[in-house]
Amino acid sequence: MSLMFSCSNITSVSKKDKRLMAEVNASPLKHFVTAKKKINGIFEQLAAYIKESSTFLEETYKNEELDPVTTEEQVLEVKGFLSNVAGIAEVLARRHMKVAFFGRTSNGKSSVINAMLWDKVLPSGIGHTTNCFLRVEGTDGRESYLLTEGSEEKKSIKTVNQLAHALHQDENLNAGSLVCVMWPKAKCALLRDDLVLVDSPGIDVTTELDSWIDKFCLDADVFVLVANSESTLMQTEKQFFHKVNDRLSRPNIFILNNRWDASASEPEYMDEVRRQHMDRCSSFLVDELGVVDRAQASDRIFFVSAKEVLQARIQKAQGMPEAGGALAEGFQARMFEFQNFERRFEECISQSAVKTKFEQHTVRAKQISEALRQIMESVHVAAQDQSAHCLEMKEERQDRLEFLDKQLDLLAQDYKRKIKQITEEVEKQVSNAMAEEIRRLHVLVDEFHMDFHSSQVVLKVYKNELHKHIEEGLGRNMSDRCSNAITSALQNTQKDMIDGMKPLLPANVWTQVDMLVPRKCFSLSYDLNCDKLCSDFQEDISFHFSLGWTMLVNRFLGPKSSRRALLGYNDQVPRSLAITPVSASMPPFPQGSMTQEELMVSMVTGLASLTSRTSMGIIVVGGVIWKAVGWRLIALSVGLYGLLYVYERLTWTTKAKERAFKRQFVDYATEKLQLIVSYTGSNCSHQVQQELAGTFCQLCQQVDVTRQNLDDEIKDLNKKIELLDSLQSKAKLLRNKAGWLDSELNMFTQQYLHQGR
Ligand code: GDP
Repeated sequence: MSLMFSCSNITSVSKKDKRLMAEVNASPLKHFVTAKKKINGIFEQLAAYIKESSTFLEETYKNEELDPVTTEEQVLEVKGFLSNVAGIAEVLARRHMKVAFFGRTSNGKSSVINAMLWDKVLPSGIGHTTNCFLRVEGTDGRESYLLTEGSEEKKSIKTVNQLAHALHQDENLNAGSLVCVMWPKAKCALLRDDLVLVDSPGIDVTTELDSWIDKFCLDADVFVLVANSESTLMQTEKQFFHKVNDRLSRPNIFILNNRWDASASEPEYMDEVRRQHMDRCSSFLVDELGVVDRAQASDRIFFVSAKEVLQARIQKAQGMPEAGGALAEGFQARMFEFQNFERRFEECISQSAVKTKFEQHTVRAKQISEALRQIMESVHVAAQDQSAHCLEMKEERQDRLEFLDKQLDLLAQDYKRKIKQITEEVEKQVSNAMAEEIRRLHVLVDEFHMDFHSSQVVLKVYKNELHKHIEEGLGRNMSDRCSNAITSALQNTQKDMIDGMKPLLPANVWTQVDMLVPRKCFSLSYDLNCDKLCSDFQEDISFHFSLGWTMLVNRFLGPKSSRRALLGYNDQVPRSLAITPVSASMPPFPQGSMTQEELMVSMVTGLASLTSRTSMGIIVVGGVIWKAVGWRLIALSVGLYGLLYVYERLTWTTKAKERAFKRQFVDYATEKLQLIVSYTGSNCSHQVQQELAGTFCQLCQQVDVTRQNLDDEIKDLNKKIELLDSLQSKAKLLRNKAGWLDSELNMFTQQYLHQGR
């Protein structure tokens, strides 16, 4: 019936569905097998995924370069999932479908199992009754063997008689103990499809129904009550299933009315008996137990002959016609009904087992994948937030860096201008002050007091001390005139610089920067070096009579006038070199190099210069008198000349010598110092420039440190952003994987758990 039903639907389905259906039609047990394979595969992927996630989370949690994007609880939770899923996967791998056969002794339980297995696996018949539960399970090996409770020894059994013998011989087997019959899968399709069949001792021989249920029935997917069609359902049989029904919710129960071949001997009652059995059995299942609806009851109650089916199948397996033996009337119908039972049973057990054995774990797997998806989502969001924050920080640092560079350029230009301005001012100020001081040099020289003597030794010491005095005096005076103004201008500029630079620096270095002024107590060094400047000074303090021959010649061709006349120089033209007053011992001028004409010119010029002098005045007066009075004049002139000589000789004292010395020195030093006015000005302005440049340089260094810090911070942030990006994409990948696993689980649920609902 069900086969017909299945086939009629095939035309309306797709090719793939056809193939699937063909597979299912071949054996509905495959439904469980493929579901198990699928769910095991999903759990394998889930376990690998959790492992990957766990490693990822742990590494992320331990990463100290980042702010936390995951919590310790999350790490522990995922670790917990790992052991959880490993445990489930192990249980799933061992999952199988289990059918338990119950009924009174000799109803034919063993015969039904053998018929289903197409072989005499379990001993049956009078004398083979045992008190044990026999569990038939597939083994991958070629040999069948026995495993008894509490022993790992594999007892080899080659034939069913050996098994029967072994069961009877083993004294350790108590009533209700379990014996596993490991049967090669290669010999039996049912066993290949993960089906385990349990044969029980007759319900009528035990009082320990409760303990049986606890021990053998709680994980059974289907219960088959093997009843005897020659009698009605017994109370003990009903009672057992009532208890099962109490412990399990809506157990799958099939009722096989065995020994139906016996009905063939009384065909006139057959339908009536069948109807009666059917009514009683469906009333039991529907009304008493409530495990099926009345409409479904006919799919749970079958009239079969296990003995015939087994016989026919063994014959078929041996290559003989299945109905070859002496079989009772109606064998084909009973055979067909047994096959129908098998199909219904297989459909029921595979559906039920998939649901009971995989549904709960599927739900758990979904919960785990959802929890992981949420964790990965939270990690992704946290990493994204952190990355955005880092990006903001990076942009802010970059803006600051850009601002810093631009501002520094502007400030540098501004300060260059200011420094130029201030240095120019300083140069002017120092030059003016120095010119003023040079004009007042005679005061400074006059202030110098020291014992003067014309001896060379004393003069040397005198000169040295005078140099020192001038150096100190000039320095002090210059300093009085300029230093305060320059220093305050300098400090103002420094302060301006610092105030301008401060906004470019972080607040924590402001106090440090403030300490740059005064960097040190700045004082200008004028560095006149009088000592060297005037080292060539040569005084002339020997006595010279103003009307003496030498002086007269000197008057005519004096070193100053004669040279000026000779070289055509003008008094107003500044000379590049100071000329030492000519001493008496020196030749007055290089005569050899002059022509006669030039000599005349110089003599005339010398004569002209004489008119301005006192002695010359006397000569002119003498000449006039000579003309007027003759020889008297000569006498008077000579007298006057002598007197003048005596007078001049007497007044040529040390004091006079010192005065002459000082006057000559002032003249000399004035000329020399004038030469270095602009040098001193630029020297001072250079010092100021150095000072300001030093301050600016120090500020720039601070800015450089800030710049470097910003650069380092940007680099760090870049690294962090890169790390967060990879973290984000990994978390996203893992989140998507969880989504994919969830969809796999949904598909599994749809395909295997919700099927037929
Ligand atoms: P168990 O004690 O319930 O396992 O019953 P067995 O399978 O050992 O069967 C007891 C006896 O009943 C054996 O001699 C079987 O040959 C016989 N038997 C089992 N099934 C049928 C059947 O369908 N028809 C007939 N006529 N005899 C059967």
